[in-house]
Amino acid sequence: MSNANLLTRSLAAVWHPCTQMKRHESLPLIPLASGEGAWLVDMDGQRYLDGISSWWVNLFGHGEPRIKAAIRAQLDTLEHAMLAGFTHRPVVELSERLAALTGLGHAFYASDGASATEIALKMSAHYWRNRGEPGKHRFVHLAGSYHGETAGALAVTDVPVFRQAYAPLLQPGLTAPSPDARNARPGESAADVAERAAAGLEALFTAHGDEIAALIVEPLVQGACGMVMYDPAYLTRARALCDRHRVHLIADEIAVGFGRTGTFLASEQAGIRPDFVCLSKGITGGFLPLAAVLSTDEVYAAFYDDDVTRGFLHSHSYTGNPLACAAALAVLDIFDSDDVIKANRARAERWDALFRPLADHPQVRHYRHRGMIWAFDVADAPTGFAQAYFAAALAQGVLLRPIGHTVYLMPPYTMNDDEARQLAGAARVALDAALVAGARGNDVAVA
Ligand SMILES: *Cc1c(COP(=O)(O)O)cnc(C)c1O
Repeated sequence: MSNANLLTRSLAAVWHPCTQMKRHESLPLIPLASGEGAWLVDMDGQRYLDGISSWWVNLFGHGEPRIKAAIRAQLDTLEHAMLAGFTHRPVVELSERLAALTGLGHAFYASDGASATEIALKMSAHYWRNRGEPGKHRFVHLAGSYHGETAGALAVTDVPVFRQAYAPLLQPGLTAPSPDARNARPGESAADVAERAAAGLEALFTAHGDEIAALIVEPLVQGACGMVMYDPAYLTRARALCDRHRVHLIADEIAVGFGRTGTFLASEQAGIRPDFVCLSKGITGGFLPLAAVLSTDEVYAAFYDDDVTRGFLHSHSYTGNPLACAAALAVLDIFDSDDVIKANRARAERWDALFRPLADHPQVRHYRHRGMIWAFDVADAPTGFAQAYFAAALAQGVLLRPIGHTVYLMPPYTMNDDEARQLAGAARVALDAALVAGARGNDVAVA
């Protein structure tokens, strides 16, 4: 079958995500044939260095052999069974290991990040109801937050392009100021901005504490609104405020967990333990859809009762899928055997030396870096910058997909230094190309 034919069929049969489909009249889809390490390979044999880990899920490269082997082995015994009334080794082992890593227990499973958000929100509100405080059912999120796109998750997401059309469907939440370090006034540190944002949170809690079930945050990096980075002090303050006002703290570690910010969980850097942790994206190394929500024993205990309706009756058909759990166990094995957190520390230092010269470009602002995430903003970006940059990077054999006028690099951990150098070079060439492209169409912040 010819590639052109496949593209036509895809446009006729597939509704692609996060896409105004009409744009594909001018921007061709890329038909992929395979993936190999940090590379994606199209049907013409053209290779693309995956600079954003395929939407932040791929930790150890495409086709990682140990994850593949674990899925294959599981396939020979049990591919799937319902988890209500049944259990199996992969789900038990994974739950035990996630508990040890998060300090939280009783992992509840779903298949994607948005569902994990829904579960955490529902569990929190239901907890307060079971405790005799049904009035505590509102949620606080940060300005610029992203927690997924199902109706409950979208209600705590503050990215207008994703929200606007669905606003009438959403339960209004409360928005707290973002601790975005870029908001530093002259003479202010990132920690000062965090303190100011925490004061705003405190005011919200003081006014509405009795109605608030939980605060949901993306710890350290607000990804989808443009890799906004902030000081860990904010999380420490937020934890204390949540305790004082009896509000749950939900850490959405879907993007930042699994080592992305330099520690296994981003919230570790603030020395705090959230009441709920949501995990997904990197959990299977980018192989299979899986999400988990972990919570405190106190939360679990509030549901444990003779009354069935006090239980958490939420379910998904593929809850705890054994193949996905086997992939996740292989990922955790790799973290142990390859000492990934430590190895990443050295890698991040070497790669930062390669990427940092991008900050010298006259139109680059706020070059920033945490763990295995790099980002910068582009001043005076022309209309259509993000799309023009994406196309220019592809022409350099690199996959990079800016969010509005923010360019970010979020590579697989296993990229080698030559590949990192190539990524840095292409990021620079694409920047100059996109700045002159004067591309068509309205620019929209799309991850
Ligand atoms: C991607 C993401 C989600 C949603 O995950 P999906 O699997 O895309 O539903 C939620 N929260 C954060 C912080 C994310 O980055």
